[in-house]
Amino acid sequence: MTTVDDKSVVKEYFNATGFDRWRRIYGDGEVNKVQLDIRIGHQQTIDTVLDWLKADDNLTHLTICDAGCGVGSLSIPLAEAGAKVEASDISEKMVGEAKERAASETLKGSLNLSVQDLESLRGQYHTVICLDVLIHYPQNQADAMISHLCSLSESRVILSFAPKTCFYSLLKKIGSLFPGPSKTTRAYLHKEADVIAILEKNGFQIQRQAMTKTRFYFSRILEATRSAS
Ligand code: SAM
Repeated sequence: MTTVDDKSVVKEYFNATGFDRWRRIYGDGEVNKVQLDIRIGHQQTIDTVLDWLKADDNLTHLTICDAGCGVGSLSIPLAEAGAKVEASDISEKMVGEAKERAASETLKGSLNLSVQDLESLRGQYHTVICLDVLIHYPQNQADAMISHLCSLSESRVILSFAPKTCFYSLLKKIGSLFPGPSKTTRAYLHKEADVIAILEKNGFQIQRQAMTKTRFYFSRILEATRSAS
């Protein structure tokens, strides 16, 4: 599959069936057991990142880029906590939903939502965050995406991705053997060492790391800051 293919398939998915599926998972209405498990796992990832950022006690001074923001699960609480957030997503449906969820006067001026793929983002932000997006791209594309995110960051990058370990590779293989309609787009696992090597190549060093693990959701979270030059 070429670069263009992967991206357009993902974009189409998150503007159609993927939008319906993930809007429900990232909401609070009734969902099936698997979706509930994913909802709980994803919320843990969001809470971990929020806890890290709030612990630093400087949110009101930060500009944050949330690339691939989905329905605003992280962007909205960050803006509510006082950060200036530029949130964007390749899917106009996801951004539309995020705008509805953020429809509060208090967020005006602190949260800007736009439809943009992360490769075309420009500007400089204190912190660049990209959660659960790399799973949609193979390693060779993820490399360029992470490098681009680093170029937008003055100080810190926070990424989450599905780690490639023997256990998760096997789970993925078993999952793909089950018959029935595809539940999602292709999912790509990434080797943690590869992701760290890309961050280091771009002048970043790992500061904090965490792992979210439920039955059906797993995500490695890395915080990296610019090394002193
Ligand atoms: N980061 C959000 C969160 O954790 O709540 C959403 C995660 S969701 C699994 C993946 C999101 O990435 C979708 O909203 C999708 O539209 C977006 N996405 C996929 N490829 C993208 C790209 N190249 N640029 C920007 N957004 C992208």
